[in-house]
Amino acid sequence: MRILIDNGHGKETPGKCSPDGRLKEYAYTREIADRLVTGLQNEGIDAQRIVPGENDVALFERVRRVNAFGKDAILVSIHCNAMGSGAEWMPANGWSVFVGNNASMNSRRLARQLAQAALNRKVKVRRPSPQKLYWTANFYICQKTNCPAVLVENFFQDNKEDVEFLLSEEGKQCVTNILLEGITNYLKEYQRNM
Ligand SMILES: [Zn+2]
Repeated sequence: MRILIDNGHGKETPGKCSPDGRLKEYAYTREIADRLVTGLQNEGIDAQRIVPGENDVALFERVRRVNAFGKDAILVSIHCNAMGSGAEWMPANGWSVFVGNNASMNSRRLARQLAQAALNRKVKVRRPSPQKLYWTANFYICQKTNCPAVLVENFFQDNKEDVEFLLSEEGKQCVTNILLEGITNYLKEYQRNM
């Protein structure tokens, strides 16, 4: 099983930055993706980024790269959420995870494990209901990939408190560890269900 990590956007993707310019989504998600890949590899798990460079890679090309690995893989796309355009600070905050509208059972299992790992760290998990830990949406990268896939919105890049947390070492470790724990627990659950 190969763990594929997609770090959202490219350097030239418009917007995608905190109102004070300190958090740039492309750079932040790359840093988290690198930490996550290193953490997974340290546990002997086969992990890699599908967008190693800094430029924006079109969604269809990212999907093509993922699907080239076949079904024995999972995809985690890493983002930071935004309520507005990035021009001003907004009130929405918290962490959330999404699957595509056509999500498989395994995509849903992966999303649940990630949300549980976030709850274990006592962070605010945004969810549709107390019982349902993940959202469904028509995200292209989730819908068009053949393997289990989730998209994670790691807090809000236009919420002042969230940005302070995201940029702190504590916040970076928290975000990385949510992903690391969620993925490793999914792999354990998957092996039990084989
Ligand atoms: Zn994004």
